Amino acid sequence: MKPVPFDYHRASSADEAITLLADHGENARLIAGGQSLVPMMNLGLASPDHVIDISDVSALDFVREEGGGLQIGAVATHNTIIGSDLVVSACPLLIEAYKHVAHHTVRNRGTLGGNICHSDPASEMPLVLTLLDASMVIRGPGGERVVPASEFFVGEFETAVNSQELLTEIRIPSQSKEEGYAFEEVSQRKGDFSIVSAACRLTVAGGKIKDVRLGLTGAGAENKRMSAVEAHLEGADAGDSIISDAADLAARQADPTADLHADEDYKRDLVRALSRRVLARAVQIASQ
Ligand SMILES: Cc1cc2nc3c(=O)[nH]c(=O)nc-3n(C[C@H](O)[C@H](O)[C@H](O)COP(=O)(O)OP(=O)(O)OC[C@H]3O[C@@H](n4cnc5c(N)ncnc54)[C@H](O)[C@@H]3O)c2cc1C
Repeated sequence: MKPVPFDYHRASSADEAITLLADHGENARLIAGGQSLVPMMNLGLASPDHVIDISDVSALDFVREEGGGLQIGAVATHNTIIGSDLVVSACPLLIEAYKHVAHHTVRNRGTLGGNICHSDPASEMPLVLTLLDASMVIRGPGGERVVPASEFFVGEFETAVNSQELLTEIRIPSQSKEEGYAFEEVSQRKGDFSIVSAACRLTVAGGKIKDVRLGLTGAGAENKRMSAVEAHLEGADAGDSIISDAADLAARQADPTADLHADEDYKRDLVRALSRRVLARAVQIASQ
């Protein structure tokens, strides 16, 4: 299918994009890499009258380190981010997750900003940005606001960005060099969206597990933090049996929904297996 006709606008700055959004009202949509919006338009799932292209806004295309963390501009592409030594060193969990995101050609055009504004519940990025305590800078006619990831992802395909605003920047605190981290995923083919994915961060001090963060996609509510599992692990002796118990608990706590790719039982098994794997690897890294 082809999209219905629309007017195309190319913004050269964030302020110009905001003015165009105000001029063209509710049925205007921003486009960054187009890797999610264009398929949706082709399928008739989105039919904007006005499309505002921000991909050439060079002031939003950056990856830099400042104030103990990363600052990533909204139109920085996936491949720019993956290729940045700053990201490799400051946020290795993000790089781990990126190994599962799409294919080279999609990553060449697709942006982190577009990815999280699309907020697909099967995407890896909302999950890791939540575990990494990222915050998002959103700009609109009334000025700028900074929203933590825990409040940015409102629901499936829904974020805190309203129709008059744009996301300008993603801020991610650097990971501590002492922490362990891991990301694992099962999808139909490499580069597809996840059926289930698991991400974890933790530290090990004096043989005890601390500061545990475990999150899953495909296990029920999107970007689910497994708080009961985190509480079960906190302060426990780092070893195989507690990890096994925690993975069983994650499977019991999960509330997956059957879909075209997998039934509930299979997803629950994936939750158990992937939780065990990420916890074991994170403990191993943190214990080195
Ligand atoms: C074959 C294929 C496989 C893929 N596999 C994966 C995968 O495994 N994991 C994964 O996470 N993603 C995957 N994707 C999606 C990919 O990561 C997209 O690049 C991403 O989801 C959207 O980024 P974009 O820059 O292309 O955004 P666009 O498609 O341009 O925009 C997406 C949405 O975000 C809005 N938007 C864009 N930028 C802003 C902004 N700055 N402020 C406010 N709103 C904005 C747009 O209006 C639109 O609603 C896949 C895509 C394809 C085509």
